[in-house]
Amino acid sequence: MPSTRTAIRGDLVYFTGNPFISPATDCLTYERDGCIIVEDGLIQAVGPANALLEDGITVTHHRDKLILPGFIDTHTHYVQLEIMASFGKQLIDWLNQYTFPAEQSFDNAAHCDQIAAAFCDQLLRHGTTSASVFCSSHAYSAEALFKQASKRNMRMIAGQVLMDRNAPDALLVPSGQAHDESQKLIQDWHGKNRNLYAITPRFAPTSTPDLLEMAGDLWREHNTCHVQSHISENVAEVEWVRSLFPDYLDYLDVYEKFGLIGQRANFAHGIHLTGREIARLCETETAISHCPTSNLFLGSGIFDFSKMMAGEEMVRIGIGTDIGGGTSLSILETLAEAYKVSLLSNRVLSAAEAFYAATLGSAQALSIDDKVGTLQPGLEADLIVLDPKATPLLTMRSAQAQSIHDLLFALMIMGDDRAVSHTYVAGDLAHART
Ligand SMILES: [Zn+2]
Repeated sequence: MPSTRTAIRGDLVYFTGNPFISPATDCLTYERDGCIIVEDGLIQAVGPANALLEDGITVTHHRDKLILPGFIDTHTHYVQLEIMASFGKQLIDWLNQYTFPAEQSFDNAAHCDQIAAAFCDQLLRHGTTSASVFCSSHAYSAEALFKQASKRNMRMIAGQVLMDRNAPDALLVPSGQAHDESQKLIQDWHGKNRNLYAITPRFAPTSTPDLLEMAGDLWREHNTCHVQSHISENVAEVEWVRSLFPDYLDYLDVYEKFGLIGQRANFAHGIHLTGREIARLCETETAISHCPTSNLFLGSGIFDFSKMMAGEEMVRIGIGTDIGGGTSLSILETLAEAYKVSLLSNRVLSAAEAFYAATLGSAQALSIDDKVGTLQPGLEADLIVLDPKATPLLTMRSAQAQSIHDLLFALMIMGDDRAVSHTYVAGDLAHART
């Protein structure tokens, strides 16, 4: 097959460092009239358009728009797409009343295929090119998502949910069966196309020690896989874990004793963590997914960015939408809520920190920063184009922007899927707003 060499031109915005710990000016690159040369799905070159554009190359020019790496959603549940905006409950009641009944309908293959396809299309529409996704406890629910992600050539991390207690019988899978099903999914899908497998115990309360032990063993056998779960989302949940696992130091210690923390392990929420747990997350390079719309919607609590520091170090933090506890698939809307949550904990989240967290920071949290997350030769060309004039109000506000930081801030506070004008996956156009 002949190679395809194309150029995508516009104002480039990307990160080369972490603005939470270094000055933003050292971390954020803003290239007016820049250009990305893409060949065979990979970024070949990044720089000023007038230096890089060559005769004969096909150029797509996004004039006066921002080109960024695709957003990465580090925590979401595709099987909860239909229960977004379910009324009136906090975590445990919400799971029982809405989540578990909805997830039972994923025993039907056609339903899995239909919702997985809708989910992937919605991600692309919102500018999200990679995600770390919980499926249901039915093995086919994971297969369905991998099939749909493959059709769209997306870099997807996903796994079958593991549960063997404290949920409806229809959703419980005994440890032995869960092991065999997860192992088959790993063999069939981990590393196939752009898919990666995540071993996915829902959380400690729906897991017996046996199940967690199986999950830890599975990760040791398949150590290039990922691990995803939940931690310290809700005060009642933390107390429940203490009563179910009385012999452990704390919530994180439960996962640690079963070999489930470390690089490529990613736990959602982490609102009520202790200093010991935060220090241990840093030491082991275990990631936390911050899901502000979900934390507010379920009344779970206020995530504290400042608390995520242990000495000079900071926990790896990704940004998650946590659909359906979350209220939007838009990472822009999620960053707006992260900003408000941050102010409630007496810290100002800058636009540089927010956009870093949603791109390179999330890639680092998931340990896929050797593949995606910034604009750099050799990485996969997952790109989005943001339109500062997407709506009449954004047009008015953007005209007042004094700097790229100010413009990004306006986009994250006022933007949603309408601000995403184009999404490219591995260099190919995957969504264009009409
Ligand atoms: Zn979740």
